[in-house]
Amino acid sequence: ETAPPLLSVDNIEVVYNDVILVLRGLSLKVPKGQIVALLGSNGAGKSTTLKAISGLLRTEDGEITRGDVTFMGERINGIEPDRIVRRGIFQVMEGRRIIADMTCLENLRLGAYTRRDNEVKSDIERVYEYFPRLKERTGLAGYLSGGEQQMLAIGRAIMSRPKLILMDEPSMGLSPLLVKEVFSIIKKLNQDLGVTILLVEQNARVALSVADYGYIMEQGKIVLDGSAEMLATNEDVKEFYLGQG
Ligand code: ATP
Repeated sequence: ETAPPLLSVDNIEVVYNDVILVLRGLSLKVPKGQIVALLGSNGAGKSTTLKAISGLLRTEDGEITRGDVTFMGERINGIEPDRIVRRGIFQVMEGRRIIADMTCLENLRLGAYTRRDNEVKSDIERVYEYFPRLKERTGLAGYLSGGEQQMLAIGRAIMSRPKLILMDEPSMGLSPLLVKEVFSIIKKLNQDLGVTILLVEQNARVALSVADYGYIMEQGKIVLDGSAEMLATNEDVKEFYLGQG
């Protein structure tokens, strides 16, 4: 039989402030070693899905009121975000959320806060191999360009040595050239380090170009899923999510 997925989200319902129902029975699976894309239009509930997995929902008065989130065979809904990080799930937030008045290096060290091993230093070198530009920037992170901040946010995720990275809109605010660069690094991370990635994107085309599998959601539910190859050639997907060109 096939191995159980690294992450399994089963039929979850999420409510904000006890009243606003945003996820309405959403299910998805993320197999170990894959890049899975979660696509859909504005307000479909993509960010909410990531926050339900990372536990960050709690910080916004959101709650999983039905269903289960299972990671490595254990139910994790309702657990505090920092305990979820310790289990190996790291979320790269939308808008990057780096610490502006700390340096790059300090931001990277912060990513390793849950670790007790002695390899933090060599991991910093590894992040610099992926993102040479970050090594050259010795000033405060707040002065980095948008693209560099996104790289730093991903670098910080690497520093926590996660099993699963949740990425929220890595293309946001980046020029087409930088989008290409960031996504090729995401693919490389997945291939070199074997990190599993669940990726939320508005830019369906670029997401499907690196993903193995994709889900499309609308109004709090999955409406279509399949291999990235299949989705990229599906007529409905082309019409509604891939736009022209
Ligand atoms: P976007 O790409 O615009 O971020 P999304 O698919 O990620 O869209 P979510 O951010 O998950 O969608 O939002 C889904 C719905 O939940 C929206 O209607 C939004 O207004 C609502 N929502 C999100 N966060 C909260 C919150 N903290 N409190 C109340 N409602 C919220």
